[in-house]
Amino acid sequence: MNKHQRAKIKATILTQIESLTEETQSPESAAQTKLRLERLGTALKRIEADNYGECFKCGTPIQMSQLLGFPETMLCTDCLNQPGEQI
Ligand SMILES: [Zn+2]
Repeated sequence: MNKHQRAKIKATILTQIESLTEETQSPESAAQTKLRLERLGTALKRIEADNYGECFKCGTPIQMSQLLGFPETMLCTDCLNQPGEQI
């Protein structure tokens, strides 16, 4: 992952955190939204690490499209699709 990609994902995380923070105002989605906010906060710290964007399990680089949708993801699609696997 290059500097430019990292900056793009970082901006995406910050945007998602911002919109989710607004969502926590509505009680029905609060619990799940808070969990996602925590994960995004962790992703924001992990993005500075060299191994951010690599699958936690097999080490394959995770696709940019997946990271931009869910920056907190730690597994590649192959590992995610394996039965019994959860992020
Ligand atoms: Zn994997």
